[in-house]
Amino acid sequence: MVYRQPDYNRRFHCLGGDCPDTCCRDWEIVVDGETRKDYQTAPAGLRERLADSLVPDEEGEMCFRLREDGFCVLLTPEGLCAIQRDWGEEHLCAHCVAYPRFTEEYGCLTETALAVSCPEAARLLLEADRFGLEEREDGGDELPFDGIDPELLEGLEVTRAAALELLRQENVPLWRRLAGVLDLADWGQDYVDFGLYDQLAGCAPQPLEAAEPASLRDLAIRLMEACAALEPLREAWPELLRRRREQLAGMDEAAYRQAGDRFERACPDWERHLTNLACYLIFRHWHKTVNDDLLYGRAALAGAGCILLYHLSLLEWLELGALGPEREIALWCAFSREVEHMEENLACLTEGFYDGQTWDFLSAFGAHSAD
Ligand code: SF4
Repeated sequence: MVYRQPDYNRRFHCLGGDCPDTCCRDWEIVVDGETRKDYQTAPAGLRERLADSLVPDEEGEMCFRLREDGFCVLLTPEGLCAIQRDWGEEHLCAHCVAYPRFTEEYGCLTETALAVSCPEAARLLLEADRFGLEEREDGGDELPFDGIDPELLEGLEVTRAAALELLRQENVPLWRRLAGVLDLADWGQDYVDFGLYDQLAGCAPQPLEAAEPASLRDLAIRLMEACAALEPLREAWPELLRRRREQLAGMDEAAYRQAGDRFERACPDWERHLTNLACYLIFRHWHKTVNDDLLYGRAALAGAGCILLYHLSLLEWLELGALGPEREIALWCAFSREVEHMEENLACLTEGFYDGQTWDFLSAFGAHSAD
């Protein structure tokens, strides 16, 4: 079995009460039966509080009750969980212990990512010099799980490594690197569609031809509209997207280009930050193609995330005259929370990106396929 994770994972420590946000908010956390049994042995006072804090969700599963403002009823005023504070971390349920670690298991391969919906995970990714992976092998020779085609998984391994390598070519502008990744995924998608899994590993990045760029701004406007129309976790997200969409739509092309030049000069790390974000999205989502064959949509998600966050950052910088890491992190967290963690939203976008007329990423990146 191979275990793989980004190399900054080991530096992660939850900020607890110092967190600028909290994960004890908005999400319905399902509490498993064994943990509920454990709660019956909690110290007096906490035991009654725990019994009172569990409510069934729509499927009848028991979850922590959320207050009117969306915070978990067990969150204390100092930003800590009452279970952890008054009893011990070992009594937290599996979801709360694991977050922000998300582990995907494929039988012969286990990968763990830190979701950037957590501000500390987002900070580690933002500040990384480059997105690196580390892995270890335990010597076992497990096969992929039943239902996962070994050749498909092997093809995804090879093509994702190529996509990450492409993204690390710092001498190439980010938008051109993303175009290369999308073109690679588009080619791979053809093999996946026809079940030619054995040929997927043969896909390699191809040189792209330069094209008169379609407006990146127009694509950003459509992305803001599409994301604002999705089911929000927090109302502030669609409100922000609508406001930024209006601002972007109100700029003429010359003003937009000038603002972009000034932003990029004032925030020279923007390209490294978004490269790291793109690598993270490719790492976290590419292999999930084994579940639904939607490879291209996942590559497009990385492109869309970078376009969206570039423009949200640019407009915030224009409005405030500065863009500190804490604001950038807050935008990344919101994107991850509203898109990555909302299954239906994620599916809607990754499936929708197949509509090449609405989502012509390659043209917006100033490239087209050589064939
Ligand atoms: S969001 Fe991250 S840093 Fe904040 S409380 Fe949750 S795990 Fe800790």
